[in-house]
Amino acid sequence: MLQHLQNPVFKVLATIANQTQTEAYVIGGFVRDLFLNRPSKDIDIVILGNGIEFAEQAGRQLKTKVAVFKNFGTAMLKYNDLEIEFVGARKESYRSDSRKPIVENGTLEDDQLRRDFTINALAISLNKDNYGSLIDPFNGLADLERKLIRTPLDPAITFSDDPLRMMRAIRFATQLNFDIDEAALAAIKNQKERISIVSKERITDELNKIILAKTPSIGFNHLFDTGLLQLIFPQMAALYGVEIINGKGHKDNFYHTLQVLDNICETTDDLWLRWAAILHDIAKPPTKRFEEGHGWTFHGHEDKGARMVPQIFAQLKLPLNEKMKFVQKLVQLHLRPIVLAQEKVTDSAVRRLLFEAGEEIESLMLLCNADITTKNEYKVKKYRNNFELVKQKLKDVEERDQLRNWQPPISGNDIMETFGLSAGREVGILKNAIREAILEGEIINSYDEAFHFMLKKAKELGLNQVIK
Ligand code: ATP
Ligand code: MG
Repeated sequence: MLQHLQNPVFKVLATIANQTQTEAYVIGGFVRDLFLNRPSKDIDIVILGNGIEFAEQAGRQLKTKVAVFKNFGTAMLKYNDLEIEFVGARKESYRSDSRKPIVENGTLEDDQLRRDFTINALAISLNKDNYGSLIDPFNGLADLERKLIRTPLDPAITFSDDPLRMMRAIRFATQLNFDIDEAALAAIKNQKERISIVSKERITDELNKIILAKTPSIGFNHLFDTGLLQLIFPQMAALYGVEIINGKGHKDNFYHTLQVLDNICETTDDLWLRWAAILHDIAKPPTKRFEEGHGWTFHGHEDKGARMVPQIFAQLKLPLNEKMKFVQKLVQLHLRPIVLAQEKVTDSAVRRLLFEAGEEIESLMLLCNADITTKNEYKVKKYRNNFELVKQKLKDVEERDQLRNWQPPISGNDIMETFGLSAGREVGILKNAIREAILEGEIINSYDEAFHFMLKKAKELGLNQVIK
């Protein structure tokens, strides 16, 4: 244990504890992460006594500012790249309508008991007589070894007191690839409705941490199996299930989505691209139809899905900014590269895709690649080959035509000046015709070619160039 307390800051804290005759312990996530070899920069120190006073002394010794949060009885200081938070040991009791406890001073054991999981309740002494020893009243160390999320108290009490812990249990299980204790899982199933007293922001915070883990499907499977997903994100839960008519089924879109999500996590750490994977098929349930003689269809699910994105972002309190627009665009376009890859890959189709996707083209290609989840080896091979072709063509067309963030070489203003027009239908027709001609490859993306083309088109419309 001692070797883990190498940082000189711990010696300073130990000295203060000794001089002031106050017990101090490192506790919680930092201790857990020491054993897991996950480097962590957040250190929680619990003091048997006044946490704020202790922090102020530490601040003086370390010559660093201390931020005091009187209302919470906590104080925080930064030392090098560490963030150290001090709090007095506390005992908590809860009322049923709030996850904010009534707090009173307590012993170390009281403080450990109020922690969410045994692995988060480990403490290391900073005191002279047992410096560096581990205080582990609930066998948290054994749970770390067994890879188990378990509560120090009866889980029914732990989760009812603060239902956010249900999300935290699933989040830690996902981040650490741990199991959740059977009794705890059962308690989550029983108490799931209590999630309603937790703010949307808190829930989404945990959801985002699950999404940023290496294998987010672990968390989503738990969320679904416990019934929490149905409450916090019903649109996603609705993807679950297979319907069969006349012996024909469709794939289970929930498990497909999880597969796509896990796939994309191998190629990107970007939260929003991962969200795009979650939402790419979100409108499959509301667009599902069984067509006689044809089977299951999900026509327009990309359009409807794109329209659902702002509503889902608002509901989950995700930001309604350019990140939302990014996700929306990917949902809208997610079928395009794969449709391309299934057909003959023409230059003009590639040009159109590049024109519409703009800066998002690489993200879109990653999403589509992740979206290939068919079990049919032959199909996978064919799609991936065609996909490579699409990628190559994208590169060629991009180099040649530079269509990313492309503006047609002739603007509406140019058109109005050339023909002495005011804004109106004809300007639109000409603009459109020029853009189409370039995207179709009839003319190249240059001012001269576009100008000549425009004159020809204008003639057909009976327009004459105004000579200045
Ligand atoms: P991470 O920082 O990776 O999210 P962490 O375990 O450090 O993980 P924090 O939210 O930073 O989590 O909390 C620090 C410690 O405070 C936890 O280890 C746990 O002991 C305790 N804790 C945090 N939130 C709760 C909660 N809702 N209920 C009980 N204890 C909690
Ligand atoms: Mg932490």
